[in-house]
Amino acid sequence: MRIDALVAPRSVAIVGATDRPSPSRSLIEALAAIGFAGSIYPVNPKYQTVLNHVCYPTLTDLPEAPDIVVLSVRNPLVPEQIRLAAKRGARSAVIYDSGFAELGEDGARLQAEIAGICREANMPVCGPNCMGILNPTARVTTYKQSVMKTEGLAGNVGLISQSGSVAIAILSDLRRFGISLSVSSGNEAVTRTVDYLEYMIDDPATKVIGTFTETVREPERYVAALDRAAAAGKPVVVLKVGKTERTQRAITSHTGGLAGSSSVFSELLRAHRAIEVNDLDEMTEVLAVCQGARWPRGRGISVITGSGGLAEMILDIGIAANLHLPPLSPAERTEAESVIGRITGDGNPFDAWGNGNYAVNVPHAMSVVDKSPQISSVVYCADTSNEGHLGDPSRILENVKMLAAAATKSSKPYYLLSSRPGTMNTQQAKALRDAGLVQIGGTRQGLGALDRVGRYMTALPPVRVAAGPARSGLADLLVANPARRMINEFDAKQLLGAYGVRGTREQCVTDLAEAAAAAHKIGFPVVLKVVSDDIPHKTELGLVVVNLANEQELAQAFATLSQRLGELDPRPSDCKYLVQEFIKGGVEVFAGVSRDPDFGLSLAFGMGGTAIEVTRDFALRMLPLREGDAEAMIAQTRGAALLGAVRGKLAADVASLARCLYTLADFAWANADHLAEIDLNPIKALPEGQGCIVVDALIVARTLG
Ligand code: ADP
Ligand code: MG
Repeated sequence: MRIDALVAPRSVAIVGATDRPSPSRSLIEALAAIGFAGSIYPVNPKYQTVLNHVCYPTLTDLPEAPDIVVLSVRNPLVPEQIRLAAKRGARSAVIYDSGFAELGEDGARLQAEIAGICREANMPVCGPNCMGILNPTARVTTYKQSVMKTEGLAGNVGLISQSGSVAIAILSDLRRFGISLSVSSGNEAVTRTVDYLEYMIDDPATKVIGTFTETVREPERYVAALDRAAAAGKPVVVLKVGKTERTQRAITSHTGGLAGSSSVFSELLRAHRAIEVNDLDEMTEVLAVCQGARWPRGRGISVITGSGGLAEMILDIGIAANLHLPPLSPAERTEAESVIGRITGDGNPFDAWGNGNYAVNVPHAMSVVDKSPQISSVVYCADTSNEGHLGDPSRILENVKMLAAAATKSSKPYYLLSSRPGTMNTQQAKALRDAGLVQIGGTRQGLGALDRVGRYMTALPPVRVAAGPARSGLADLLVANPARRMINEFDAKQLLGAYGVRGTREQCVTDLAEAAAAAHKIGFPVVLKVVSDDIPHKTELGLVVVNLANEQELAQAFATLSQRLGELDPRPSDCKYLVQEFIKGGVEVFAGVSRDPDFGLSLAFGMGGTAIEVTRDFALRMLPLREGDAEAMIAQTRGAALLGAVRGKLAADVASLARCLYTLADFAWANADHLAEIDLNPIKALPEGQGCIVVDALIVARTLG
């Protein structure tokens, strides 16, 4: 469905139009204010004219089929009016009123009825329960707020918000960027975030896109649109609230339990180069940073201040926010100190006060850090505001001049930072903008925006090409037994083993004599377990005994397990015993794969043990992995330090662990169609050179259809 008529209509019919103070009246005034040159058709049987426009009794009476019909009527009247609009050949509609799907079943039915009519008529619709669309580029609006001033309204930011109030919040501060197109999309009965996104990717006026999203509809199309936006060089800044709709579902594995949260969505955004933000301050700063003539080409930030206290605070905040603030190199420090005098700390943040010669020291500090290959953005911190009572106003433009002079000699972007978000001097912000520079604000939010854009500008490593066979055992196993959902430890390890994942040496047995023979073959000490598709978590039922040193201990364990099995009611029909090598020492970690119903498979890695559900110390990546993902995942977990040489223990074989993660991911990708979850818990990471061994495994097959 094309949405040109919806976002840039050239004729606007307004059903329910009136002269009295009302949204319809404001809209007619807003159209005049924004400079709308098309036709306005008020529709209301009660009036001859509305604000000097000829008023038509019904949509049927309009002199032409309008590009858009704005329904400024209460919800019970909407279906009838939509029907008339379709009949009159209207090319799109906006429905403001609420009381639809957001209110429960009756509302949902009404909304479905409307959506049905519009789809049949091939008519895109904004809403219901929305504020409409503001298009300063095309000088047209169906947006419910009055237009007070048009200067600075038009710009390059495209906004798509499922909440009208959030749209208001962003539009309420246009000091540093203007709007190419702003959509308050409401319940999205017909036209959705992804439709607007696709439009904006192709819209030459839009350079950066901000979205506020509660629900992602059509996830596949959404992801494809993110990819297309990235390819077009238009950052999509995403503020997502609420958990994904469909995370409440039956989950068997630990991995599924961990990944079934909004963290999958965050990973998805990262994998498709969208910029995630957590609040409107962060979003505003990213949109502002994108207004600069240059964007950060990497994460390294140098912050220059004239204050030791500020420098310390920025450092604390920067470290907590995981910002990259590279210290001065010894050579840079020498060069800096030759002019500035002694510099405290490691030089980032760079307190350039030194001998107090501000006008010389700050530019010198800038010239030193500018040359550093580690630094992608140079920031000068100075707090100013419009309503300030104190301070020398001439200083304001001095700062701009100083930054502009430094930027002219550089290819890097320069910023002026207020330590508080939203606090700035408008004249200064404007002067910066005229120089192609940007005022940022809020230490965490402003510098965070540089980090976010810097990451965005850094190319992602290539997607991994799986080393193993394109198809492997899982499909065949399911052909043989389509009803099978849970695949027990033994079978799971066989499948993974065939793909190259190393598991314990082990043997399935049915009686003690076989168990003893197996134990001798494997070599004591051994572990005895019960395996069954019906028992995904064995320890809970006391069905694992480890470290059996000899035949006597094995016999005892066998007796215990068979007794416990006998007490199970019902007793699973497929129970066998598993004798396997006991892996002494090593660090227990886990890895697993789970499926998000909307966004597909992801890989999780964390330090092992049951504490994981409490500590939630794990890393996640969408599949397929990119090169470097496994190493980064391991490094990213807080507990990863335990893999190093700590407390006299040898360092773990991290390289082999990374290979294990890649192989697991390749296996999962090769079996994606048939896979719901995998849990390798634990994997034992042995000392360097000895590899890692999967001690327990579980695969949950996907029920198709
Ligand atoms: P569950 O089904 O309860 O997860 P596991 O097979 O993971 O059962 O066994 C429980 C625990 O016993 C493991 O987390 C691990 O600490 C230990 N364990 C199991 N098998 C072995 C083995 N072969 N070598 C060493 N320890 C093991
Ligand atoms: Mg286990």
